Amino acid sequence: MKLLVGTRSPGKTREIRELFAGLPFEVSFPADRLLQPLPEEADLERSMSYVENAVAKARYYAMRGGLPAVSDDSGIEVDALGGAPGPRSARWSASGGDVENNTLLLKQLSGVPQDKRTARYRCVVAFLATASSVPEIVEATCDGFILTEPRGTGGFGYDPLFFSPELNMTFGEAPAASKHRVSHRGRAFRALIEVLLRRST
Ligand code: IMP
Repeated sequence: MKLLVGTRSPGKTREIRELFAGLPFEVSFPADRLLQPLPEEADLERSMSYVENAVAKARYYAMRGGLPAVSDDSGIEVDALGGAPGPRSARWSASGGDVENNTLLLKQLSGVPQDKRTARYRCVVAFLATASSVPEIVEATCDGFILTEPRGTGGFGYDPLFFSPELNMTFGEAPAASKHRVSHRGRAFRALIEVLLRRST
């Protein structure tokens, strides 16, 4: 089955390629299909709803690529910040760079004790067989907490600050396979893959 993955994030692209490795899907990304970035893409994730954003992105890429499409909308929810940044995670700081986002998060949590720094990653994945199909939606979370300084250089985004009790290390320190085993994205894509394999039999 051909699948166009609607993301231009290098971190997500690497992870999603790995999550589909060895499975019966012909996975491609916008750049593989020479789909140039267009200004209208900035409007696809303006909602405060992960589901709306994931569906908007999958529908857009299904239309542009003429293929079944899948998109992930994800974020980190910090309890001491009332669940922020949530769907705003990618552009939490003014520049939206990973280093600046992490610096801002640490500043906002300064003085917050370790037991109040609980957080979770959330990932919503939408699949559309065609641009006008009803979406299939799966969702998964991954619990952890935010350290007071970064650890590790792996992963992307907030990973060096996100400590996973399941792995006993940050996602920045975790080997990719370990992160996939417990992560919001790993869990959500495994659920989606099960749905897609069931649909095709
Ligand atoms: P979006 O889904 O493209 O709106 O962006 C998701 C944003 O959430 C990313 O840019 C990161 O800031 C954050 N995020 C989501 N998943 C992860 C992850 O697995 N590791 C680190 N940061 C993540």
